[in-house]
Amino acid sequence: MPRRVAVIGAGAAGSMAAIFAASAGAEVLLLERTRDGGRKILISGGGRCNILPARLDESRFVTDSSVHTLRKIIRSWPLPEQVAFFEGELGLPLAEELESGKLFPVSNRARDVRDGLIGLAARRGARFLPGSLVVDLTPEAGGWRITLDDGAGLEVEAVIVATGGLSVPNTGSDGRGLAIVRRLGHTMHPTYPALTPIAADPAPFAALAGVSLTVTVTAQDAVRSAVAHGGFLFTHRGYSGPAVLDVSHVLVRSRLEGDGSAQLLVRWTSLDDAGWEEILRGAGQRTAISVARRLMPERLAEALIVRAGVEPSRSLAQLRREDRRRLIDLFVRGPLPWTGDEGYRKAEVTGGGVSLAEIDPRTMASRRQPGLFLCGEVLDAFGPIGGYNFLWAWATGRAAGLGAAQHPAA
Ligand SMILES: Cc1cc2nc3c(=O)[nH]c(=O)nc-3n(C[C@H](O)[C@H](O)[C@H](O)COP(=O)(O)OP(=O)(O)OC[C@H]3O[C@@H](n4cnc5c(N)ncnc54)[C@H](O)[C@@H]3O)c2cc1C
Repeated sequence: MPRRVAVIGAGAAGSMAAIFAASAGAEVLLLERTRDGGRKILISGGGRCNILPARLDESRFVTDSSVHTLRKIIRSWPLPEQVAFFEGELGLPLAEELESGKLFPVSNRARDVRDGLIGLAARRGARFLPGSLVVDLTPEAGGWRITLDDGAGLEVEAVIVATGGLSVPNTGSDGRGLAIVRRLGHTMHPTYPALTPIAADPAPFAALAGVSLTVTVTAQDAVRSAVAHGGFLFTHRGYSGPAVLDVSHVLVRSRLEGDGSAQLLVRWTSLDDAGWEEILRGAGQRTAISVARRLMPERLAEALIVRAGVEPSRSLAQLRREDRRRLIDLFVRGPLPWTGDEGYRKAEVTGGGVSLAEIDPRTMASRRQPGLFLCGEVLDAFGPIGGYNFLWAWATGRAAGLGAAQHPAA
Protein backbone atom coordinates (compact mmCIF):
# COMPACT_ATOMS: atom_id res chain seq x y z
CA MET A 1 0.00 0.00 0.00
CA PRO A 2 1.44 3.42 -0.90
CA ARG A 3 1.84 5.75 2.06
CA ARG A 4 -0.65 8.62 2.24
CA VAL A 5 1.18 11.93 2.56
CA ALA A 6 -0.37 15.40 2.84
CA VAL A 7 1.65 18.43 1.82
CA ILE A 8 0.30 21.66 3.33
CA GLY A 9 1.06 24.65 1.10
CA ALA A 10 1.64 24.59 -2.66
CA GLY A 11 4.37 27.22 -2.67
CA ALA A 12 7.97 26.68 -3.71
CA ALA A 13 8.87 24.10 -1.05
CA GLY A 14 5.50 22.33 -0.98
CA SER A 15 5.18 21.81 -4.73
CA MET A 16 8.74 20.38 -4.80
CA ALA A 17 7.92 18.14 -1.82
CA ALA A 18 4.80 16.86 -3.62
CA ILE A 19 6.81 16.03 -6.76
CA PHE A 20 9.39 13.99 -4.85
CA ALA A 21 6.94 12.29 -2.48
CA ALA A 22 4.76 11.22 -5.43
CA SER A 23 7.82 10.13 -7.45
CA ALA A 24 8.86 7.95 -4.51
CA GLY A 25 5.51 6.17 -4.63
CA ALA A 26 3.45 7.97 -1.97
CA GLU A 27 -0.21 8.83 -2.45
CA VAL A 28 0.06 12.62 -2.18
CA LEU A 29 -2.52 15.29 -1.35
CA LEU A 30 -1.28 18.84 -2.01
CA LEU A 31 -3.44 21.17 0.11
CA GLU A 32 -3.35 24.87 -0.72
CA ARG A 33 -5.46 27.63 0.78
CA THR A 34 -5.47 29.92 -2.29
CA ARG A 35 -7.15 29.12 -5.60
CA ASP A 36 -3.88 28.46 -7.40
CA GLY A 37 -0.81 28.31 -5.09
CA GLY A 38 2.75 29.45 -5.73
CA ARG A 39 1.85 33.14 -5.62
CA LYS A 40 5.27 34.12 -4.29
CA ILE A 41 6.85 32.36 -7.22
CA LEU A 42 4.64 34.48 -9.51
CA ILE A 43 5.82 37.79 -8.02
CA SER A 44 9.44 36.70 -7.59
CA GLY A 45 12.31 38.34 -9.43
CA GLY A 46 10.01 41.07 -10.72
CA GLY A 47 7.79 38.44 -12.40
CA ARG A 48 10.81 36.67 -13.95
CA CYS A 49 11.59 34.32 -11.01
CA ASN A 50 15.23 34.27 -10.01
CA ILE A 51 15.05 30.53 -9.62
CA LEU A 52 18.60 29.86 -8.33
CA PRO A 53 21.99 31.54 -7.96
CA ALA A 54 24.51 30.75 -10.72
CA ARG A 55 27.13 30.16 -7.99
CA LEU A 56 26.56 29.36 -4.35
CA ASP A 57 28.30 30.89 -1.34
CA GLU A 58 26.95 28.87 1.59
CA SER A 59 28.36 31.34 4.11
CA ARG A 60 25.74 33.89 3.04
CA PHE A 61 22.83 32.02 4.63
CA VAL A 62 21.60 33.38 7.97
CA THR A 63 20.35 31.20 10.83
CA ASP A 64 20.31 31.20 14.61
CA SER A 65 20.51 27.40 14.48
CA SER A 66 23.57 25.28 13.70
CA VAL A 67 25.39 26.41 10.55
CA HIS A 68 26.65 22.84 10.23
CA THR A 69 23.08 21.49 10.00
CA LEU A 70 22.15 24.21 7.53
CA ARG A 71 25.07 23.28 5.24
CA LYS A 72 24.25 19.60 5.46
CA ILE A 73 20.74 20.36 4.23
CA ILE A 74 21.91 22.57 1.36
CA ARG A 75 24.45 19.98 0.26
CA SER A 76 21.76 17.30 0.13
CA TRP A 77 20.78 18.65 -3.30
CA PRO A 78 23.80 20.35 -4.88
CA LEU A 79 23.22 23.38 -7.10
CA PRO A 80 24.24 21.64 -10.39
CA GLU A 81 21.70 18.88 -9.68
CA GLN A 82 18.99 21.45 -8.99
CA VAL A 83 19.77 23.17 -12.30
CA ALA A 84 19.65 19.78 -14.04
CA PHE A 85 16.23 19.08 -12.47
CA PHE A 86 14.70 22.32 -13.76
CA GLU A 87 16.21 21.99 -17.21
CA GLY A 88 15.74 18.23 -17.59
CA GLU A 89 12.72 17.10 -15.58
CA LEU A 90 10.75 20.34 -15.74
CA GLY A 91 11.88 21.21 -19.29
CA LEU A 92 12.68 24.77 -18.26
CA PRO A 93 16.01 25.99 -19.67
CA LEU A 94 17.76 28.53 -17.41
CA ALA A 95 20.04 31.42 -18.28
CA GLU A 96 22.47 33.41 -16.15
CA GLU A 97 22.10 37.16 -15.89
CA LEU A 98 25.81 37.90 -16.00
CA GLU A 99 25.88 41.18 -14.10
CA SER A 100 24.05 39.70 -11.10
CA GLY A 101 25.02 36.00 -11.22
CA LYS A 102 21.32 35.06 -11.01
CA LEU A 103 19.62 32.25 -12.93
CA PHE A 104 16.25 32.89 -14.57
CA PRO A 105 14.10 30.73 -16.85
CA VAL A 106 15.01 31.58 -20.44
CA SER A 107 11.34 32.46 -20.96
CA ASN A 108 11.69 35.09 -18.17
CA ARG A 109 8.24 34.05 -17.01
CA ALA A 110 7.71 33.17 -13.34
CA ARG A 111 4.40 31.59 -14.32
CA ASP A 112 6.29 28.87 -16.23
CA VAL A 113 8.04 27.91 -12.97
CA ARG A 114 4.86 27.87 -10.87
CA ASP A 115 2.75 26.04 -13.49
CA GLY A 116 5.64 23.69 -14.30
CA LEU A 117 6.06 22.58 -10.67
CA ILE A 118 2.37 22.11 -9.89
CA GLY A 119 1.86 20.43 -13.28
CA LEU A 120 4.74 18.00 -12.68
CA ALA A 121 3.43 17.17 -9.19
CA ALA A 122 0.07 16.27 -10.79
CA ARG A 123 1.72 14.20 -13.54
CA ARG A 124 3.64 12.27 -10.89
CA GLY A 125 0.30 11.49 -9.26
CA ALA A 126 -0.20 14.16 -6.55
CA ARG A 127 -3.79 15.38 -6.07
CA PHE A 128 -3.85 19.18 -5.98
CA LEU A 129 -6.57 20.51 -3.65
CA PRO A 130 -6.72 24.33 -3.91
CA GLY A 131 -9.04 26.31 -1.63
CA SER A 132 -8.09 24.04 1.32
CA LEU A 133 -7.18 26.09 4.40
CA VAL A 134 -5.64 23.86 7.05
CA VAL A 135 -6.45 25.08 10.56
CA ASP A 136 -5.14 22.23 12.69
CA LEU A 137 -3.03 19.10 12.78
CA THR A 138 -3.57 16.39 15.39
CA PRO A 139 -1.36 13.35 15.90
CA GLU A 140 -3.31 10.08 15.94
CA ALA A 141 -2.37 6.43 16.17
CA GLY A 142 -0.36 5.67 13.01
CA GLY A 143 -0.60 9.16 11.51
CA TRP A 144 -2.21 12.57 11.48
CA ARG A 145 -5.62 14.16 11.31
CA ILE A 146 -5.80 17.34 9.26
CA THR A 147 -8.64 19.79 9.96
CA LEU A 148 -9.75 22.25 7.29
CA ASP A 149 -11.52 25.55 7.99
CA ASP A 150 -14.89 24.14 6.91
CA GLY A 151 -14.56 21.45 9.59
CA ALA A 152 -13.71 18.65 7.14
CA GLY A 153 -11.03 16.21 8.25
CA LEU A 154 -8.45 14.11 6.42
CA GLU A 155 -6.40 11.22 7.70
CA VAL A 156 -2.86 10.62 6.49
CA GLU A 157 0.26 8.78 7.61
CA ALA A 158 2.67 11.68 7.17
CA VAL A 159 2.31 15.46 6.90
CA ILE A 160 4.69 17.93 5.31
CA VAL A 161 4.28 21.51 6.56
CA ALA A 162 5.32 23.89 3.76
CA THR A 163 3.21 26.90 4.72
CA GLY A 164 5.94 29.56 4.37
CA GLY A 165 6.68 32.50 6.64
CA LEU A 166 4.97 35.80 7.38
CA SER A 167 6.13 38.04 4.57
CA VAL A 168 3.75 39.51 1.96
CA PRO A 169 0.75 37.80 3.63
CA ASN A 170 -1.61 38.40 0.70
CA THR A 171 0.25 35.60 -1.14
CA GLY A 172 -1.28 33.12 1.33
CA SER A 173 1.54 32.66 3.85
CA ASP A 174 0.42 34.47 6.97
CA GLY A 175 2.12 32.53 9.75
CA ARG A 176 -0.77 30.17 10.52
CA GLY A 177 1.42 27.17 9.75
CA LEU A 178 4.11 28.45 12.10
CA ALA A 179 1.52 28.76 14.86
CA ILE A 180 0.35 25.16 14.32
CA VAL A 181 3.91 23.87 14.43
CA ARG A 182 4.61 25.84 17.61
CA ARG A 183 1.49 24.38 19.23
CA LEU A 184 2.85 20.95 18.44
CA GLY A 185 5.80 21.65 20.73
CA HIS A 186 8.56 22.86 18.40
CA THR A 187 11.19 25.34 19.50
CA MET A 188 10.99 28.50 17.42
CA HIS A 189 13.58 31.19 16.96
CA PRO A 190 11.75 34.52 17.08
CA THR A 191 10.63 35.56 13.60
CA TYR A 192 11.50 38.89 11.98
CA PRO A 193 11.20 40.50 8.54
CA ALA A 194 14.33 40.06 6.41
CA LEU A 195 15.34 41.37 2.98
CA THR A 196 13.16 44.42 3.61
CA PRO A 197 13.70 48.09 2.68
CA ILE A 198 14.93 50.46 5.39
CA ALA A 199 13.06 53.61 6.40
CA ALA A 200 14.30 57.00 7.57
CA ASP A 201 11.77 59.44 9.01
CA PRO A 202 12.50 62.22 8.37
CA ALA A 203 14.25 61.04 5.20
CA PRO A 204 17.30 63.29 4.85
CA PHE A 205 18.00 62.03 1.33
CA ALA A 206 14.39 62.07 0.04
CA ALA A 207 15.44 64.51 -2.69
CA LEU A 208 17.64 61.74 -4.11
CA ALA A 209 14.71 59.28 -4.47
CA GLY A 210 15.27 57.25 -7.63
CA VAL A 211 19.07 57.64 -7.63
CA SER A 212 20.75 54.23 -7.78
CA LEU A 213 24.34 53.02 -7.83
CA THR A 214 26.55 50.09 -6.84
CA VAL A 215 27.96 50.33 -3.32
CA THR A 216 29.23 48.31 -0.37
CA VAL A 217 26.91 48.47 2.65
CA THR A 218 27.69 47.46 6.23
CA ALA A 219 25.09 47.12 8.99
CA GLN A 220 26.44 46.52 12.46
CA ASP A 221 25.72 46.70 16.13
CA ALA A 222 27.38 45.15 19.16
CA VAL A 223 25.77 41.76 18.48
CA ARG A 224 25.98 41.18 14.72
CA SER A 225 27.09 42.65 11.44
CA ALA A 226 26.58 42.05 7.73
CA VAL A 227 28.27 43.40 4.62
CA ALA A 228 26.87 43.38 1.09
CA HIS A 229 28.10 44.66 -2.24
CA GLY A 230 25.55 45.48 -4.91
CA GLY A 231 22.75 47.77 -6.00
CA PHE A 232 21.59 50.62 -3.75
CA LEU A 233 18.50 52.74 -4.31
CA PHE A 234 17.34 55.92 -2.58
CA THR A 235 13.57 55.88 -2.04
CA HIS A 236 11.12 58.53 -0.82
CA ARG A 237 10.98 56.74 2.52
CA GLY A 238 14.60 55.62 2.91
CA TYR A 239 16.81 53.05 1.20
CA SER A 240 16.38 49.90 -0.85
CA GLY A 241 18.16 47.82 -3.50
CA PRO A 242 19.72 44.37 -3.11
CA ALA A 243 22.68 45.51 -0.96
CA VAL A 244 20.39 47.24 1.56
CA LEU A 245 17.94 44.30 1.63
CA ASP A 246 20.80 41.86 2.23
CA VAL A 247 21.93 43.62 5.43
CA SER A 248 18.49 44.79 6.60
CA HIS A 249 18.06 41.93 9.13
CA VAL A 250 20.82 43.40 11.30
CA LEU A 251 18.91 46.70 11.59
CA VAL A 252 15.53 44.99 12.02
CA ARG A 253 16.87 42.83 14.84
CA SER A 254 18.69 45.71 16.45
CA ARG A 255 15.28 47.39 16.83
CA LEU A 256 13.34 44.27 17.85
CA GLU A 257 15.87 42.92 20.31
CA GLY A 258 17.81 46.00 21.38
CA ASP A 259 17.67 49.77 21.25
CA GLY A 260 17.90 50.15 17.46
CA SER A 261 21.37 51.63 17.65
CA ALA A 262 22.82 49.60 14.75
CA GLN A 263 24.69 51.65 12.20
CA LEU A 264 24.21 51.60 8.44
CA LEU A 265 27.46 52.59 6.72
CA VAL A 266 28.06 52.91 2.99
CA ARG A 267 31.19 52.90 0.87
CA TRP A 268 29.87 54.81 -2.10
CA THR A 269 32.59 53.89 -4.63
CA SER A 270 35.23 51.20 -4.98
CA LEU A 271 37.88 53.58 -3.55
CA ASP A 272 39.18 53.17 0.00
CA ASP A 273 40.75 55.90 2.18
CA ALA A 274 44.13 55.75 0.42
CA GLY A 275 42.48 55.87 -3.02
CA TRP A 276 40.48 58.99 -2.15
CA GLU A 277 43.52 60.67 -0.51
CA GLU A 278 45.45 60.23 -3.70
CA ILE A 279 42.69 61.54 -5.96
CA LEU A 280 41.77 64.52 -3.76
CA ARG A 281 45.37 65.58 -3.11
CA GLY A 282 46.32 65.43 -6.76
CA ALA A 283 43.36 67.50 -7.94
CA GLY A 284 44.83 70.97 -7.11
CA GLN A 285 42.54 73.72 -8.35
CA ARG A 286 39.63 71.39 -9.10
CA THR A 287 36.67 71.29 -6.70
CA ALA A 288 35.51 68.29 -4.65
CA ILE A 289 32.31 68.10 -6.67
CA SER A 290 34.12 68.04 -10.02
CA VAL A 291 36.18 65.07 -8.81
CA ALA A 292 33.43 63.18 -6.97
CA ARG A 293 30.82 63.41 -9.73
CA ARG A 294 33.06 61.36 -11.99
CA LEU A 295 32.82 58.50 -9.49
CA MET A 296 29.19 58.68 -8.31
CA PRO A 297 25.89 60.29 -9.35
CA GLU A 298 26.30 64.07 -9.22
CA ARG A 299 23.31 64.70 -6.92
CA LEU A 300 24.67 62.23 -4.40
CA ALA A 301 28.17 63.74 -4.60
CA GLU A 302 26.68 67.18 -3.91
CA ALA A 303 24.63 65.90 -0.96
CA LEU A 304 27.63 64.16 0.62
CA ILE A 305 29.92 67.18 0.17
CA VAL A 306 27.34 69.46 1.79
CA ARG A 307 26.91 66.93 4.63
CA ALA A 308 30.67 66.95 5.17
CA GLY A 309 30.40 70.72 5.69
CA VAL A 310 32.62 71.43 2.68
CA GLU A 311 31.88 74.38 0.40
CA PRO A 312 31.20 72.71 -3.02
CA SER A 313 32.92 75.53 -4.96
CA ARG A 314 36.09 75.49 -2.84
CA SER A 315 39.16 74.18 -4.67
CA LEU A 316 40.74 71.05 -3.28
CA ALA A 317 44.03 72.87 -2.83
CA GLN A 318 42.25 75.14 -0.33
CA LEU A 319 40.74 72.28 1.67
CA ARG A 320 41.98 71.94 5.21
CA ARG A 321 43.23 68.54 6.30
CA GLU A 322 40.23 67.98 8.63
CA ASP A 323 37.82 68.86 5.81
CA ARG A 324 39.45 66.36 3.51
CA ARG A 325 39.37 63.75 6.29
CA ARG A 326 35.64 64.31 6.90
CA LEU A 327 34.91 64.09 3.19
CA ILE A 328 36.84 60.84 2.80
CA ASP A 329 35.10 59.41 5.85
CA LEU A 330 31.70 60.10 4.26
CA PHE A 331 32.77 58.63 0.91
CA VAL A 332 34.25 55.47 2.46
CA ARG A 333 32.01 54.79 5.47
CA GLY A 334 29.20 57.29 5.24
CA PRO A 335 26.58 56.73 7.96
CA LEU A 336 22.97 56.70 6.79
CA PRO A 337 20.38 57.77 9.35
CA TRP A 338 17.55 55.23 9.66
CA THR A 339 14.56 54.87 11.94
CA GLY A 340 12.75 51.69 10.91
CA ASP A 341 11.98 49.22 8.15
CA GLU A 342 9.15 48.32 5.79
CA GLY A 343 8.38 45.14 7.76
CA TYR A 344 6.63 42.01 6.48
CA ARG A 345 4.60 44.07 4.00
CA LYS A 346 7.70 44.36 1.80
CA ALA A 347 10.04 41.70 3.23
CA GLU A 348 11.05 39.03 0.73
CA VAL A 349 11.51 36.48 3.49
CA THR A 350 11.00 35.75 7.18
CA GLY A 351 14.00 35.30 9.44
CA GLY A 352 13.80 32.90 12.38
CA GLY A 353 11.32 30.01 12.55
CA VAL A 354 11.55 26.37 13.57
CA SER A 355 14.99 25.58 14.96
CA LEU A 356 17.04 23.35 12.67
CA ALA A 357 17.91 21.35 15.80
CA GLU A 358 14.31 20.10 15.77
CA ILE A 359 14.62 18.34 12.41
CA ASP A 360 16.60 15.46 10.97
CA PRO A 361 18.64 17.14 8.20
CA ARG A 362 18.50 14.04 5.98
CA THR A 363 14.72 13.67 5.89
CA MET A 364 13.43 16.98 7.32
CA ALA A 365 11.47 14.88 9.85
CA SER A 366 10.50 16.63 13.06
CA ARG A 367 12.37 15.32 16.07
CA ARG A 368 9.32 16.24 18.19
CA GLN A 369 6.47 14.64 16.27
CA PRO A 370 6.79 11.38 14.34
CA GLY A 371 5.37 11.60 10.83
CA LEU A 372 5.67 15.40 10.64
CA PHE A 373 8.06 16.94 8.12
CA LEU A 374 9.02 20.60 7.65
CA CYS A 375 10.43 22.51 4.68
CA GLY A 376 10.94 26.00 3.23
CA GLU A 377 10.53 29.28 5.00
CA VAL A 378 8.94 27.83 8.17
CA LEU A 379 12.50 26.79 9.08
CA ASP A 380 15.07 29.04 10.70
CA ALA A 381 17.16 30.02 7.65
CA PHE A 382 17.19 32.52 4.84
CA GLY A 383 19.68 33.60 2.23
CA PRO A 384 20.52 36.82 0.41
CA ILE A 385 18.87 38.17 -2.73
CA GLY A 386 19.95 36.14 -5.76
CA GLY A 387 17.97 32.87 -5.85
CA TYR A 388 19.21 31.59 -2.48
CA ASN A 389 15.76 31.44 -0.92
CA PHE A 390 14.34 29.31 -3.68
CA LEU A 391 17.43 27.10 -3.46
CA TRP A 392 16.56 26.55 0.21
CA ALA A 393 12.90 25.86 -0.64
CA TRP A 394 13.81 23.38 -3.43
CA ALA A 395 16.41 21.50 -1.33
CA THR A 396 14.28 21.24 1.81
CA GLY A 397 11.14 20.46 -0.21
CA ARG A 398 12.80 17.59 -2.04
CA ALA A 399 14.29 16.14 1.15
CA ALA A 400 10.94 16.38 2.98
CA GLY A 401 9.08 14.74 0.06
CA LEU A 402 11.50 11.81 -0.04
CA GLY A 403 11.57 11.58 3.78
CA ALA A 404 7.78 11.55 4.14
CA ALA A 405 7.33 8.97 1.37
CA GLN A 406 9.61 6.61 3.29
CA HIS A 407 8.03 7.16 6.70
CA PRO A 408 7.98 5.04 8.76
CA ALA A 409 11.31 3.63 7.60
CA ALA A 410 10.72 0.25 6.01
C1 LIG B 1 8.32 39.97 -3.70
C2 LIG B 1 9.15 38.72 -3.51
C3 LIG B 1 10.09 38.38 -4.45
C4 LIG B 1 10.92 37.26 -4.26
N1 LIG B 1 11.82 36.93 -5.23
C5 LIG B 1 12.63 35.86 -5.04
C6 LIG B 1 13.53 35.46 -6.06
O1 LIG B 1 13.54 36.01 -7.18
N2 LIG B 1 14.38 34.42 -5.78
C7 LIG B 1 14.35 33.74 -4.58
O2 LIG B 1 15.14 32.82 -4.39
N3 LIG B 1 13.44 34.06 -3.63
C8 LIG B 1 12.58 35.08 -3.84
N4 LIG B 1 11.66 35.41 -2.88
C9 LIG B 1 11.57 34.54 -1.68
C10 LIG B 1 10.77 33.26 -2.01
O3 LIG B 1 9.57 33.62 -2.69
C11 LIG B 1 10.45 32.48 -0.73
O4 LIG B 1 11.64 32.25 -0.03
C12 LIG B 1 9.79 31.15 -1.06
O5 LIG B 1 8.61 31.36 -1.79
C13 LIG B 1 9.46 30.37 0.22
O6 LIG B 1 8.87 29.16 -0.18
P1 LIG B 1 7.86 28.38 0.78
O7 LIG B 1 7.29 27.28 -0.05
O8 LIG B 1 8.50 28.06 2.05
O9 LIG B 1 6.71 29.43 1.10
P2 LIG B 1 5.64 30.09 0.12
O10 LIG B 1 6.18 30.16 -1.26
O11 LIG B 1 5.20 31.33 0.80
O12 LIG B 1 4.43 29.05 0.07
C14 LIG B 1 3.61 28.77 1.17
C15 LIG B 1 2.27 28.27 0.62
O13 LIG B 1 1.51 27.74 1.69
C16 LIG B 1 0.16 28.18 1.57
N5 LIG B 1 -0.41 28.14 2.94
C17 LIG B 1 -0.02 28.88 4.00
N6 LIG B 1 -0.73 28.55 5.09
C18 LIG B 1 -1.60 27.56 4.70
C19 LIG B 1 -2.59 26.81 5.39
N7 LIG B 1 -2.82 26.99 6.69
N8 LIG B 1 -3.31 25.89 4.68
C20 LIG B 1 -3.05 25.70 3.35
N9 LIG B 1 -2.12 26.40 2.66
C21 LIG B 1 -1.39 27.31 3.32
C22 LIG B 1 0.29 29.58 1.00
O14 LIG B 1 -0.92 29.99 0.38
C23 LIG B 1 1.43 29.39 0.00
O15 LIG B 1 0.97 28.98 -1.26
C24 LIG B 1 10.79 36.49 -3.07
C25 LIG B 1 9.83 36.83 -2.12
C26 LIG B 1 9.00 37.93 -2.34
C27 LIG B 1 7.95 38.26 -1.30
